[in-house]
Amino acid sequence: MKKFMKEFKEFALKGNVMDLAVGVIIGAAFQNIVTALTGDFISPLIAAVTGKTGEDGTVVIGGTFTINGAVFNYGDFISSVVNFLIMAFILFLLIRGINRLMTVGKKKEDGTAATKKCPYCVSVIDIAAKRCPNCTTILDEELQKELNEAAK
Ligand SMILES: [Zn+2]
Repeated sequence: MKKFMKEFKEFALKGNVMDLAVGVIIGAAFQNIVTALTGDFISPLIAAVTGKTGEDGTVVIGGTFTINGAVFNYGDFISSVVNFLIMAFILFLLIRGINRLMTVGKKKEDGTAATKKCPYCVSVIDIAAKRCPNCTTILDEELQKELNEAAK
């Protein structure tokens, strides 16, 4: 049992499992928004265009047709398809955004885009460095001005 718990802990703490959990939660939240969007806005819109109204006077999407006593609810089916299309589009945007963030993070980890060379001692230093940590040269005009003011 102890070994099992240890294995589970290792599995659960792996980054991709946490990412997956976050993805599932975000997905569930979006599902509610998309359902509300189609149910409250898009379905009535389609119903308004097709001009179908229910027995109580409210607009209904599509409706049903009957073949040999079997009822086909194509209105519900159209709603589900619209739901799926919106959901897929939102997920596409979400994943594209996440991928972009991941590549930004990677570049910084590699240290390729996050460093510069000091023009005086030619050592590789952080891109944001205002002062070289190796030769102490001031690399930022603002900082130079500040220090000049302070020296007066
Ligand atoms: Zn330097």
